[in-house]
Amino acid sequence: MTVRTRYAPSPTGDPHVGNIRSAVFAWAMARANGGQFLLRIEDTDRARLVPGSMDAIFESLRWLGIDWDEGPDVGGPHAPYVQSERLHLYQAAASELIAKGRAYRCFCTAERLDAMRASQTAAKRPPGYDGLCRGIDAAESESRAKSEPFVVRFRMKDEGQTVLRDLVRGEIVFENALQDDFVALKSDGFPTYHLAVVVDDHEMEITHAIRGDEWVSSAPKHLQIFEALGYEPTLFAHLPLIVGVDRKKLSKRSGDTALLDYAKKGYLPDAMLNFLTLLGWSLDDKTTIISRETLLKSFTVERVVPNPAAFDLDRLNFLNGQYIKQLTDEQWEAVVREWAERDLPGHILRPLDEDLVRQVAPLLRDRVGTLSEVAPQIEFLFGGAAPEYPKELLSERLGGEHMEALRVVDAALLALDAVSPELWVKERIEAAIRGMEEPLGMKLRKFASVLYVAAMGRAAGIPLFDSLEILGRERSLDRLRRARGLLE
Ligand code: GLU
Repeated sequence: MTVRTRYAPSPTGDPHVGNIRSAVFAWAMARANGGQFLLRIEDTDRARLVPGSMDAIFESLRWLGIDWDEGPDVGGPHAPYVQSERLHLYQAAASELIAKGRAYRCFCTAERLDAMRASQTAAKRPPGYDGLCRGIDAAESESRAKSEPFVVRFRMKDEGQTVLRDLVRGEIVFENALQDDFVALKSDGFPTYHLAVVVDDHEMEITHAIRGDEWVSSAPKHLQIFEALGYEPTLFAHLPLIVGVDRKKLSKRSGDTALLDYAKKGYLPDAMLNFLTLLGWSLDDKTTIISRETLLKSFTVERVVPNPAAFDLDRLNFLNGQYIKQLTDEQWEAVVREWAERDLPGHILRPLDEDLVRQVAPLLRDRVGTLSEVAPQIEFLFGGAAPEYPKELLSERLGGEHMEALRVVDAALLALDAVSPELWVKERIEAAIRGMEEPLGMKLRKFASVLYVAAMGRAAGIPLFDSLEILGRERSLDRLRRARGLLE
């Protein structure tokens, strides 16, 4: 059997991290088994459509480096891959279900259904369709359909049980008597998700439906539709719920935002992919760094755990740092250039000075958690102007003693002026600055922040001696003089 999996998002906004996790697992499952991975857009809920979502879906997958074999953009043997373009298939399936007695036209008005629900609530009975239209005979149904609006309801079995043999969750038994006759085709001819997902998974020869835990309760509906249409059901794997580190429902605050927000914040796609992989899957219970290659070779649905997975941003940051370390020098330099060009203020000319980027990139590698930290740390090197800062910052780490800061600046001017232009290298700069300790009667640790602020406009940053070397003698001395002017 060729494994065929799919990611079937609804275009209802930018895909969130939790939703994209389903794509990662389905894709890995297909790749690990030499199978195919499909992208299908489930846009039958017209009220929830958000323009632009389809592009955001493509962009999110591409950013993560997920590729698909069939889909709306690349086509394939089962095209089209957008559900709103496949309505005839669902309508044909609905007619077949009616003919087989497994579905019926329901002519109940919205007012009647509202009243029914209200009385169920008042009587503390579970809500659900009361079956009024179940008994309408075929001839009457046909003739009323000519003049009255109707939906097609699927007739769930009244007795027995529907058993889901989930590849992750194991066996789950549903009592048929508790299941409601649900709408399969709406009055406007659009299917509901339940009908469309079954028809398409069958038509597209999907072998494994891999999706979020929130769909477990829909599985008996899907299984009964498969059976009623005489289709072989797909295998199901419901992925564990994603929760915050506090074990509560994942919220925007605990990290549940659009995947592309993480791209914008400066996470590397490989780090994000690794992070998503660990939300419910593990290689061997101990390995944290799982490369793309390992994932695509080793993924098995058997190693997906059913219990909730914690969305731990500390882990994501850790992974990002690890993936930054793994880049080659050239790759890292390219990343630094990209993020600096993206984030540095507009008045700084692009393209950025190649040499400066090359010199500063190695200094940054251990000092950024996310790539959005690149530009603020190196801004002081680019563009002509000296950094702006409030003068209080110069003495902040000296307990606000302006005169102390002034002593430090004067000593630095003296020490660095003595380093000749041809010897302006970090070793000499370091020696000169360390030589200030004695006359000042102060440790470098204590006064370094004054020099950081003077040079960079911030009290800490990339290594001081390297920075002054890259900044150059003239600019370094100028900035010290400027600090002096502020303190005086
Ligand atoms: N359209 C559904 C969603 O957006 C797909 C669920 C499924 O994979 O069956 O989550």
